[in-house]
Amino acid sequence: MRFEELPTPCFVVDEALIEKNLKILSGVMQRTGAKIILAQKAFSMTTLYPLIGEYLNGTTASGLFEARLGYEAMGKENHVFAPAYREDEIDEILSICDHIIFNSFSQLEKFKDRALRAGRKVGLRINPECSTQVGHEIYDPCTPGSRFGAKREDFRPELLDGVSGLHFHTLCQQNSDDLETTLRAVEENFGEWLPRMEWINFGGGHHITRDDYDLSTLEACIKRMQEQYDLKVYLEPGEAVALNAGYLVASVLDLHKNGIDIAILDTSATCHMPDVLEMPYRPPLFGSGESGEKPFTYRLTGQTCLTGDVIGDYSFDQPLKCGDRLVFGDMAIYSMVKTNTFNGTPLPAIAVQDKDGDCRVVREFGYQDFKMRLA
Ligand SMILES: *Cc1c(COP(=O)(O)O)cnc(C)c1O
Repeated sequence: MRFEELPTPCFVVDEALIEKNLKILSGVMQRTGAKIILAQKAFSMTTLYPLIGEYLNGTTASGLFEARLGYEAMGKENHVFAPAYREDEIDEILSICDHIIFNSFSQLEKFKDRALRAGRKVGLRINPECSTQVGHEIYDPCTPGSRFGAKREDFRPELLDGVSGLHFHTLCQQNSDDLETTLRAVEENFGEWLPRMEWINFGGGHHITRDDYDLSTLEACIKRMQEQYDLKVYLEPGEAVALNAGYLVASVLDLHKNGIDIAILDTSATCHMPDVLEMPYRPPLFGSGESGEKPFTYRLTGQTCLTGDVIGDYSFDQPLKCGDRLVFGDMAIYSMVKTNTFNGTPLPAIAVQDKDGDCRVVREFGYQDFKMRLA
């Protein structure tokens, strides 16, 4: 079907734009020999895993369920990191993941031998204590009091036997200058352990596919770790794989006025794009301007009871009317993986737009999807 015929609300992911990102990532892989895997927590659209698997080395997971998804739907390298593993899931994790990363020496002590007996690569997440994001504490694993990673002072070298890699993840939507800064802190704090490792994982948060991303600094960082310490380098971006590659299409249900013109949409910030409130950020909207920039400004809002279910104030060339369709941009990442049915709000359908512009709905949701999660 045509884009204009899609039901609303609907997430639409553009295959050509995903492939454009994948080509940038595979350029880095080819020029450096680094391995890049998809962090599924940002984007778990299994319909596109065959395409992603043509370019990337595999998947990483935040726990058992994502690990299963990567194993079943991509079936390439399958890594996992969780702040703590459960006794009742570790065997299944070890049966499907080839790299398992532990958050602490106590987790290593508990599970390392089982992982090694299963023939798996064991990694340790480190905390380089190097914050490179300001005013962004909830996304900064180096913030004081964070639960993520072993600090230098936590090291128990007698437990490092069998540990083949170190993992850090400290960035969020950042450029490679911050990676360079972080890598210096990693070397300063953990340099003495690097020569005995086989691999290092730079985590995610690298905005590699953004227009202003400095690829040459990234590639120099990768090469330095390869040459100086003879390490295999992994990167596990989520955002960068599907950055700017999807839309959320919504319809105007009603118009309201309370000091400002208000449009009520068949979508919701809190249910369908929670990062708009949590991150927070303002999603791009095709054909719109900032508040007051074009002649007709509206506050775009959702259907839930939450007063703050507001996507933002946007302006238009023409007044909005009921039934108008609005297309929000950059809605592939951290969108469909974070939806919920608060207020019984229906979930958006999920569609793919192929390279010829044809769209097909690959999943629709209904009442049962709401009811099933309650009892
Ligand atoms: C979130 C996360 C990623 C992916 O981060 P992006 O910002 O989506 O690139 C990778 N690794 C770990 C451990 C993470 O927590």
